[in-house]
Amino acid sequence: MPDVSAPALDDDVLVAVRDLSTRFFTEEGQINAVEGVSFEVRDNEVVGIVGESGSGKSVTALSLIDLVDSPGEITGGEVWYRDAELAEEFAGSDAVVGDHVDLRRVPATVRRSLRGSSFSMIFQDPMSSLNPSVTVGEQIAEAVEVQRRAKGNPRRTRSRTQGYGLGRLLVDAVLPSRSYTDEESHARAIKLLEQVGIPDPAERADEYPHQFSGGMLQRAMIAQALAGEPDVLIADEPTTALDVTIQAQILDILRELQESGETSVVMITHDLGVIARMCDRVGVMYAGEIVERGRLADVFDDPIHPYTQGLLGSVPDLEAPAARLQPIEGNVPSLLDREMPEGCYFADRCPKAMADCRQPVPEYDGDASEEHAVQCVLADREYDPAVALDDTDGVIDDTDSVTDDTDGATDDGVVSGE
Ligand code: SF4
Repeated sequence: MPDVSAPALDDDVLVAVRDLSTRFFTEEGQINAVEGVSFEVRDNEVVGIVGESGSGKSVTALSLIDLVDSPGEITGGEVWYRDAELAEEFAGSDAVVGDHVDLRRVPATVRRSLRGSSFSMIFQDPMSSLNPSVTVGEQIAEAVEVQRRAKGNPRRTRSRTQGYGLGRLLVDAVLPSRSYTDEESHARAIKLLEQVGIPDPAERADEYPHQFSGGMLQRAMIAQALAGEPDVLIADEPTTALDVTIQAQILDILRELQESGETSVVMITHDLGVIARMCDRVGVMYAGEIVERGRLADVFDDPIHPYTQGLLGSVPDLEAPAARLQPIEGNVPSLLDREMPEGCYFADRCPKAMADCRQPVPEYDGDASEEHAVQCVLADREYDPAVALDDTDGVIDDTDSVTDDTDGATDDGVVSGE
């Protein structure tokens, strides 16, 4: 477990993740899915986490709300959440600094009780996340009911997390298709559907998921996630399966929610366009680590890590439509512990890898700003071809600029390797 100590946190920091690590203990071996990840979510902002598939973005999101299932395990780190009431409950323990509470040091029941009311998640695939045999309205009303019941209980670690009692369980067993949400919850569900732009929400609430289009389903998922009026909405690739028009509408809904001051948003995506459009700050993930993070303008206008540069270089430039794209050669490395390389995990794909990159790479402040942090030796010195790694495969042969639009590219736009 990393050696972490109680941090000094600004008042506007809603969530501060510190050195969070999650591993999966499989028959093939230990998989280091998330490795020492740190980032902050402030009031009323959108924080993006971007990276290729398999970089650990979704596991980071699941770790944040303690939803990692066996064989996965959160093996270290801290998740500081600002909640004065909770801080009072655990006052005097090492889990509390000011109004912030380290959720990794409180009982699991407390973490569970915060799902929905403090943290809520919009999953990638609404069709597989909603129950096909229950109406959309009923499913949202159920989420409303669970949150209302939780809020009605005193703030105790156990009582807040109690589910349906034995009586309700028995009635459910006898009458499995009965409606077990009351009128108030149903009315709230209709309001939520209206809030996310579903037309004729009262009628649509009585329809089943298969009667909704993909965009409507995603809106319904957002409505369900809003049932508990969460402080933090985690959106895991919320627009991946949608066409661009619907994608824009969904992003507008999330942006409106954030701008209304109702919630902060953590946006998990592989789409740099979504990040550019939505986010105030961004963390770039690679092989389970956040390799560069900072304010959007800092990271996008002055990327330091070659992986960030590569990601940005592989996006079409509307101002130079004829320019060739510069894809990053190779794939994300295996995250199996025994196969992970020494030093920088990007070294085998990095066009600027040097001998030192085979040693563990610390995190540096980029451009002298504490908020712009980079895990790369280039943060404090220039690339030196004289000490370039000679065992890299498939690296870009033009190291002057990874976003150069012609050099080193083949006719089909793929960067040639040496
Ligand atoms: S530490 Fe070295 S190999 Fe890793 S990204 Fe930076 S320059 Fe490339």
